[in-house]
Amino acid sequence: MQRSSAVEPDNSGNVPSDYSCVLCGAGPAGMGFLFYAFKSGKLAEVARNGLLIIDRRMRFGAGKLGDYVNVTGNSVAKSFLACLEDERFDEVFGDIREYNELHKKMAADPEGAPLLSEVGELLTLAAERLIAHLVEHFDVDVLRGHEIDAVRHSQDGRFEIAYHDTRKPAARRMMISDTVVMNLGGTQRVEELDELCRTLDIPAPGNGVITATSDELLRLTSTQLVDTFAPMFAPPAARRTNRITIIGGAHSAFTMTERLATDLGGGGLDEITIIHRSPVRLFFETVEEALAWGYPVDPVNDICPVTRRVNRSSGLRYRAFEIACAVMSEGRVAGAKPRIELIDAACGEDERARAATRLAQSCGVIHSAGYRPNMSALVDHLEVEIPLQFCQGGIEIDKFGRPIDINGKVIRGLFTFGLGSGFRPDPEIGSEAAFTGRIHGVWIFHHEIGKRILTGVLKALAETAAMQEAEMIATADDDGHASGRPRRGRADHRR
Ligand SMILES: Cc1cc2nc3c(=O)[nH]c(=O)nc-3n(C[C@H](O)[C@H](O)[C@H](O)COP(=O)(O)OP(=O)(O)OC[C@H]3O[C@@H](n4cnc5c(N)ncnc54)[C@H](O)[C@@H]3O)c2cc1C
Repeated sequence: MQRSSAVEPDNSGNVPSDYSCVLCGAGPAGMGFLFYAFKSGKLAEVARNGLLIIDRRMRFGAGKLGDYVNVTGNSVAKSFLACLEDERFDEVFGDIREYNELHKKMAADPEGAPLLSEVGELLTLAAERLIAHLVEHFDVDVLRGHEIDAVRHSQDGRFEIAYHDTRKPAARRMMISDTVVMNLGGTQRVEELDELCRTLDIPAPGNGVITATSDELLRLTSTQLVDTFAPMFAPPAARRTNRITIIGGAHSAFTMTERLATDLGGGGLDEITIIHRSPVRLFFETVEEALAWGYPVDPVNDICPVTRRVNRSSGLRYRAFEIACAVMSEGRVAGAKPRIELIDAACGEDERARAATRLAQSCGVIHSAGYRPNMSALVDHLEVEIPLQFCQGGIEIDKFGRPIDINGKVIRGLFTFGLGSGFRPDPEIGSEAAFTGRIHGVWIFHHEIGKRILTGVLKALAETAAMQEAEMIATADDDGHASGRPRRGRADHRR
């Protein structure tokens, strides 16, 4: 059994100020690393001088994934359940697997794609159990409801992390860590719509139009979605087409399409236009399945060499697959009223002109085209911002998940790999050649990516330990007593 007190939010802010590792952001990416470190038996090494888990939320594990309303995942149940399978987890949450209703529901339909809200609930439960176990058995502290403001890379290679209690934003605090695993998620900003339109070579939305991001809209309930758009719809007597345009062509865009069609179809929405700029790609488990379905497979660009799956990274799966197929063949989401039009704006002048016209005739325009990183400010010892390299899909990182600055220098000891950063496909991770984005997903955070980050963190900690030892030898006094660098703030902290 777990100590119930360890599961309860501890907001005392009474934590030491010096750690070997600080996990900033306890969403699916950060927790994937933590799960991996634990099941590999390396948690004690990561937490050798203390591990702190900090997040602005009060409950950890699900991040944004659990916030999406009525959204079906693009992974099947068994891939989420696989993250909870390891003999080391038996004493941590063995009973979840036996008695938890959600776990049972997913286990009963392992090939089905569950609702993300349910996945979020299960991930939260598992994460909270693991954290309670870690707090009890290792040198681990937890700060809930605390937000990271900035990270300063000091001259000695360590990191100073400025943070505050979300209830007291003015009272900033600071801690120091040898390594930082930072995954604060990704952001979609509505201001990016103008830039998106520029890249599509179409005019940006005019005044008097609702502009929003799918990330914010997918978190609204049906009633909230209706309240957002219904006031913009003209009454039937006005004989005007009430249209919403979505920019994007991946999972979120088709998920957004379904939410709009089903929630607003009865309330005045007539048409949805989806403007994208590369062909809509579909996912298949095998080449044979794709060919039987009539999908034209490009053997060089569409097949993942590791899994032999078709469009493994970029292909629409499960519910998004069904929506896309219905849109392409029927021009509607099954059972919903609005007509749906797909426009590939990169497909020539006529399509681009049609996209511009539809967008100009829309009462709402939605950004559904990827995420940017939500990294906190990163500065050097002189408080000067360290500019990082950004490429398609976010921050550029090396093979251990360490960000690379614009001079090509790796930020040693810092790791980021979640939404808005992420690994590019490589021979171990696999992917179809046509995919140029980044790899994200709960399963891979708990497996290959967790492994890479753990390797990087342990390497960084070993380097720090070696440096400290060298420093101690250099400063040893005449009697041979070492007087190495004292670790600030931990002396009175052991349970
Ligand atoms: C519509 C949609 C559907 C998806 N479906 C699937 C799926 O079916 N299967 C799958 O595997 N993946 C899916 N994904 C991908 C998955 O959601 C992401 O890869 C994952 O959520 C990224 O996790 P993260 O930890 O990087 O970010 P987040 O989930 O955003 O978590 C970031 C964490 O950082 C915290 N945080 C943010 N800023 C601060 C700060 N300043 N200080 C302290 N804490 C902070 C947040 O509170 C949060 O807990 C989907 C994504 C989308 C958008």
